[in-house]
Amino acid sequence: MHNLRFDNRFVNELPGDPEQGPRLRQVHGALYSRVHPTPVAAPALIAHSREVAELLGIGEEHIASELFARVFGGNALLDGMAPYAANYGGHQFGNWAGQLGDGRAISLGETVNANGERWELQLKGAGPTPYSRNADGRAVLRSSIREFLCSEAMHHLGVPTTRALCLVGTGEPVVRDMFYDGHPRAEAGAIVCRVAPSFIRFGNFELPASRDDVALLERLVDFTIARDFPHLSGSREQLHAEWFREVCERTARLMSGWMRVGFVHGVMNTDNLSILGLTIDYGPYGWIDDFDPNWTPNTTDAQTRRYRFGQQPQVAYWNLGRLASALAPAFGGVEALQEGLQHYVAAWHAAERGSIAAKLGLADCRDEDVTLMEDLRGLLQSAEVDMTLFFRALADVDPAAPSLAPFDGAFYDDAKRQAAEGSFLAWLARYGARVGADPLPAADRRERMRRANPRYVLRNYLAQQAIDRAEQGDYAGIHELLEVLRRPYEDQPDREAFAVRRPDWARDRAGCSMLSCSS
Ligand code: AMP
Ligand code: MG
Repeated sequence: MHNLRFDNRFVNELPGDPEQGPRLRQVHGALYSRVHPTPVAAPALIAHSREVAELLGIGEEHIASELFARVFGGNALLDGMAPYAANYGGHQFGNWAGQLGDGRAISLGETVNANGERWELQLKGAGPTPYSRNADGRAVLRSSIREFLCSEAMHHLGVPTTRALCLVGTGEPVVRDMFYDGHPRAEAGAIVCRVAPSFIRFGNFELPASRDDVALLERLVDFTIARDFPHLSGSREQLHAEWFREVCERTARLMSGWMRVGFVHGVMNTDNLSILGLTIDYGPYGWIDDFDPNWTPNTTDAQTRRYRFGQQPQVAYWNLGRLASALAPAFGGVEALQEGLQHYVAAWHAAERGSIAAKLGLADCRDEDVTLMEDLRGLLQSAEVDMTLFFRALADVDPAAPSLAPFDGAFYDDAKRQAAEGSFLAWLARYGARVGADPLPAADRRERMRRANPRYVLRNYLAQQAIDRAEQGDYAGIHELLEVLRRPYEDQPDREAFAVRRPDWARDRAGCSMLSCSS
């Protein structure tokens, strides 16, 4: 591990808080505060991602070492690390919330691997920072397992995301009131080491803009373009325009990725949107079981369902609008920002059409295919059909003689199935005719569909089962899930149990269908 080389550009090139340490405060004129992780009682490795270790150049022999658990539990620093918490603001549930910042995340440093790739290492749950407000800076085991597993699952699904190197138990209890109902209890604590080229969020730009600190805003814009978008070139004006356009493009693709695999982020506040278009901040997220565009796993959002599944592309657009407003003073005009926002709409539609073609196994998406997909979604919703199972099985339909047999395991309600059978057969007949007229050979079509429609996703109840076992000290469930989710598009014959619809007991169980922000 001593081979890790650090080049901490964020703290070396940008203005920081002159005060160090975790005293709570409003921090002006600075984009971060230097603060060390608070050591924990007994750091112990629970799980790690071998792909991420390899990416960083950390050999397997180091992973079991005591030093590894100490570093990623926050008890030791490697040479070259320069820990800090970032200062940012954000719009939470539509309202400007002022200074937020990394309240429990502490970046350790930016490491550059043998290929010259830059990866920032960040501990989540490493103790108080100036931005912890009235909270403890810690994270519970259950939410850390969810973040660890989902980061890696998302990556293997091909959707942009922050990664996770490891999950370390702290040996210290953390008190949480899971349902905000006055029943706090002590839970096991844990820390995830997140890994990404950049952890800059929309909210990092919004905070200096909200304080009319244009000089600081400009420093951050210039820095972000130089470090995180090095392929862009041209005059300052061109750079700004191309950069914002690319942020919009990446965000559109991210939304298309989430919608394709059935992921609901749950808290799409502007402090939780990455400037690189990565999935970031896994909190009360969930995966669609029965297809329902109105579903959100986040109990905190149950009233208005602002962040429901079907609304995510529109929310991303709204968030980009907040980012554009923040950037306007640095851009010296709004034209490029308006163009970028328009580009988001176009990029979203293009990505969505690509996704429709891939999910249905067509060479390309015609206008009528958009209708075909919309009609299917209506059927899936009204008949309560499992999204993942349905699309995966669609590749097994014989277009010349469609039947409902491939979908046997995908319906949640027999009565609804019976009522919808005629409509499904009619839809399948339309689909069969469309496929028959499509130039893609059958084998290519199947392959295309199998790469767009995963067999294994991190169903909420599967994560909860792994959590239940882990809370009893048995971590094998985490390792099993991590293993299955490494190959989500491959059939894994001995792992069929991970590819079935949500069992009845999980329908209304906490952690399986309802999650709070308490983590
Ligand atoms: P989130 O909803 O997880 O994105 O968090 C929103 C804000 O609350 C961020 O500024 C977090 O750093 C902060 N936060 C959440 N949980 C904690 C905690 N346990 N201790 C300190 N800050 C927290
Ligand atoms: Mg956050």
